[in-house]
Amino acid sequence: QQPKDFLLSVEGLTVSFDGFKAVNDLSFYVDENEIRVIIGPNGAGKTTVLDLICGKTRATSGSIHFRDRDLTKMRENEIVQAGVGRKFQTPSIYDDLTVFENLEISFPRGRSVLGALTFKRDAEVRERVHEVAEMIFLKDRLAMRADLLSHGQKQWLEIGMLLIQDPELLMLDEPVAGMSVSERVKTAELLHRIIEGRSVLVIEHDMKFVEDIAHKVTVLHQGQILSEGTMDKVKNDPKVIEVYLGH
Ligand code: ADP
Repeated sequence: QQPKDFLLSVEGLTVSFDGFKAVNDLSFYVDENEIRVIIGPNGAGKTTVLDLICGKTRATSGSIHFRDRDLTKMRENEIVQAGVGRKFQTPSIYDDLTVFENLEISFPRGRSVLGALTFKRDAEVRERVHEVAEMIFLKDRLAMRADLLSHGQKQWLEIGMLLIQDPELLMLDEPVAGMSVSERVKTAELLHRIIEGRSVLVIEHDMKFVEDIAHKVTVLHQGQILSEGTMDKVKNDPKVIEVYLGH
């Protein structure tokens, strides 16, 4: 397969911080409609990889192709517009707005909304808000202020705020951290629900959740790939076991 056959092709990606290579000649490929999970010990370079893809950090060398566009040559806002959404660990929802309003203000406003178009757009936005609210289990909470949601619901709302922009690649940093078991199970269901027409790249420590969602796992260690494949394959890989057990 050629890089252009994948949704995301990371090739020879390296970033040095004062000579220290946090990501070191890394290559991996994500298919369309794939849930890829990146695991690895603290300091392995997981967050840095997402930072590089969303343009928050600049690569020292290598390329990141999103279809045929090299993201390493684009600015953060251009990368968002190209269809890459990123959720950080700390939620960035608006506490004093309702669920509906949080979703509504996240609707992309690229085009002009003059005159006659406004009414049509309002209807379009409302319809999309309801669609997304249903996906994120919050259709009965549209009028609720966001600060009254549970921790898990806040995480879903933030995923919804990205989904409303219809990204082709959604990147999530530890989406189930701090969630209850039932919320974790629903989050897995949510990811499986939204995967049609997009791919998801997740950093995760919760192995139960990884088992539930991952089509494929990439294990990072010291900025490089230690192992890659199905969860079954990587969890039985002696190199992975050694790193996780520390000897
Ligand atoms: P992980 O997410 O797997 O825990 P990170 O990507 O956060 O790992 O970090 C990988 C390594 O790069 C760590 O040793 C970290 O200290 C270092 N690092 C990350 N960002 C920076 C930075 N902006 N400046 C210097 N070092 C950094």
